[in-house]
Amino acid sequence: MSRDTFSCALPELGSDRPVTVRIRPQVINLLVGAEAPSYSFDLSGRLIGAFVAGRNYRRGFDNRVLEKWSGANAARQRRWLSAAEAQTFLTGLYDLAGRVAGQVGDLRLAVLRKWDWPALQADAARFAQVYRPVSILPPDQYLALVLQATEGCSYNRCAFCDFYRDRPFRVKSPDELRAHIEAVRAFFGPALALRKSLFLADANALVAPMPRIRGWLDVIEEARLLPAAGIYSFIDAFDVHRKTQADWAELAGRGVRRVYIGLETGDDVLLRFLRKPGSASDVVDAVTRLKAAGVAASAIVMTGIGGDRYAAGHVTGTVAALNTLPLAAGDIVYFSPFVDHPGSEYGQLAREAGLRALTEVEVAAQEAAIRAGLRPYDPAHPPQCSRYDVREFIY
Ligand code: SF4
Repeated sequence: MSRDTFSCALPELGSDRPVTVRIRPQVINLLVGAEAPSYSFDLSGRLIGAFVAGRNYRRGFDNRVLEKWSGANAARQRRWLSAAEAQTFLTGLYDLAGRVAGQVGDLRLAVLRKWDWPALQADAARFAQVYRPVSILPPDQYLALVLQATEGCSYNRCAFCDFYRDRPFRVKSPDELRAHIEAVRAFFGPALALRKSLFLADANALVAPMPRIRGWLDVIEEARLLPAAGIYSFIDAFDVHRKTQADWAELAGRGVRRVYIGLETGDDVLLRFLRKPGSASDVVDAVTRLKAAGVAASAIVMTGIGGDRYAAGHVTGTVAALNTLPLAAGDIVYFSPFVDHPGSEYGQLAREAGLRALTEVEVAAQEAAIRAGLRPYDPAHPPQCSRYDVREFIY
């Protein structure tokens, strides 16, 4: 057994269920018995994930816990634990982890002994001081280091989107970003090792003028925070055109690897209904420009949006738009089932228009229909196609 792997027995688990601890360069794994339960922690000792009794758990920095499992017909199920459930769950697992750390005695495991419920709650309060709420990230960026170079969305009026309605759009100065980075660095501590990419948030951060972005990138480089995997960000198609081709090439040269664009739908009639500016052809132009400059792209399609009324046009238009995008390996097409929230502007519009919301089965069928129509631009190197379920987002 290497010096990074340890085993111990806890009386209540019995000698046939030893606990194995592995200390890796970015995470600490703890495994009870041969297979489960299992727990992963970052190098600050914060829980990243757990697998207990056939269910997966993730803890967010805001101290909420998301539970996920496969239901009937392998359908993905999920729910947020209540605060009381989260307290019981986290208290129990940190009690176990703390006792294991005590038995093993390796100093690197001391981080597992500092967490109890009050400490976790204090940590969530600290997170709220360092960040505005991190409202959403693309699924491949859940483990990114988020830097909020801007706050909010520069548009903020799409009927279906309430991610940033709680804050006005604000572009930070390089000095503000420097202060934010110091706070972020102190918050993460050794857990920074797990963060392999950098996500420039919130929405549309790259809409900032080039001199401002250059200032941010200088600050990020000074702080030695530019990770090997580079920089990622959301942008809307209508904002891509505000930069020249030379600007985008410069950003690619300074580490911007991929940007995520909400196509939502290839049906311009539906886009108008959603109050989203621009058109599907703007997305085609934007992705073409980005790719020519050496920046990868992700197009996000919202399935189920527009209900029964728009379903046929949504499928036809979206297939047509996606088949015009020069997407290849390194790019991603995301399918994001639309989630309506009580009191949303979209809900009001849908009621007024008499739309029937699609069922989960119909939404899945819509995604399948769009996927079936895809003809990759480069068949030998097609883009990745994945599900983007905003109900599973956690940071
Ligand atoms: S969909 Fe994009 S542009 Fe529209 S409000 Fe949301 S973040 Fe802003």
